[in-house]
Amino acid sequence: MSMTRGVSLLGASGSIGASTLSVLRQHPDRFRLVSATAQSRSDQLVSICAEFKPLLAVCGTAEQAHALAGRIRAVSAQTELAYGAAALERAACHPQADTVMAAIVGGAGLAPTLAAVRAGKRVLLANKEALVLAGQLFLDAVKSGGATLLPIDSEHNAVFQCLPGTGPGSRVIGKGVRRILLTGSGGPFRTRSRAELTGVTPEQACAHPIWRMGQKISVDSATMMNKALEIIEARWLFDAKAEQIHVVMHPQSVIHSMVEYDDGSVLAQLGQPDMRTPIAHALAHPDRIDAGVERLNLPAVGTLTFAEPDFERFPALRMAYEVLAAGGSAAATFNAANEVAVAAFLAQRLPFAAIESVIEAVLQKISPGAVSDIEQTLAADALARRVAQAHIDQVAFA
Ligand code: NAD
Ligand code: MG
Repeated sequence: MSMTRGVSLLGASGSIGASTLSVLRQHPDRFRLVSATAQSRSDQLVSICAEFKPLLAVCGTAEQAHALAGRIRAVSAQTELAYGAAALERAACHPQADTVMAAIVGGAGLAPTLAAVRAGKRVLLANKEALVLAGQLFLDAVKSGGATLLPIDSEHNAVFQCLPGTGPGSRVIGKGVRRILLTGSGGPFRTRSRAELTGVTPEQACAHPIWRMGQKISVDSATMMNKALEIIEARWLFDAKAEQIHVVMHPQSVIHSMVEYDDGSVLAQLGQPDMRTPIAHALAHPDRIDAGVERLNLPAVGTLTFAEPDFERFPALRMAYEVLAAGGSAAATFNAANEVAVAAFLAQRLPFAAIESVIEAVLQKISPGAVSDIEQTLAADALARRVAQAHIDQVAFA
């Protein structure tokens, strides 16, 4: 019988949040939910508190807290309800939790995720934007805080599983590894030409053929900006050079990614496209537990196909390599411009096909500067958001 692990879940009301709760629910002997946070859909905290009785629940605003207080008290007397940025960091550093699931979407997740890293937690990283935004500083904090970083993104979790281990939780490209092959399904518009993207609605862009995810990452999948962010994520997670990271189109999403070795071996991790698999893997690591996921039936899948990615059709992929080559604040700019463009698209203030051109314009307008501390990083993020917003206000059709 293993010891019970305390878990803080940042972003409990999201898609990754729900998948995490599903795995925790199946293993009450192994995991105890210590804290849960939600900003959007914060009323989900009520049912989460009723079921899991966490010690701390964190919502976004005073108004939300006011609306939730009585309802949470009624279902879980032991749960303290708090709100705002400081409370979010308190959840991330909760002394009763050794494991933190970082599943807030976007750069908003950086501060609490960094707090968890500095507190030396086992950090299960779904929030790729935080790592793209802060890069080297994030990894320096992992080292100095004595934290362990476990990838939740299905591709990076697959690579992690295929790389030789070099210590608890640490897998970096070492001797004998030639390349990382990140697979990508191509999203809902894989077979459409760029001309066929005019008039795409948020609803269409969010209808991913294989994965059910939050809105932002769904749009990122449609532009392949998600894969672009994942290239940068892989660079940091595995200490890889840009030229060691390749994207392979694989529409079935059965192979979640691969590692190619010098001797010609290629190791792949396969599974159902269900985030509960990487979540269960990281939660229990190095043990293996039931994730509640249906078995992979290869004869039923039948055929796996692969293709080269089209860098003209999906300019985000090209930009990812340019951003890695530029270094400094370029990745922060890239991520922030995308967040602003996606928000404008979801608000129907920017056409889908203009998302990449906004990002490209912002990258051209801002020359990459040094990011030697978090303040500089956040300043680069804020500048890119302002420049992106101004650009969108100029070009927006509404
Ligand atoms: P989502 O939109 O479904 O959920 C986001 C969560 O973050 C919600 O709980 C929301 O309340 C919270 N949140 C949003 N803005 C916040 C803010 N400003 N402050 C505090 N909390 C805030 O998103 P998701 O699909 O669950 O994705 C979460 C992260 O995981 C993203 O970084 C995404 O790239 C990554 N990821 C998701 C999937 C997936 O299958 N959904 C797969 C791989 C990686
Ligand atoms: Mg992914």
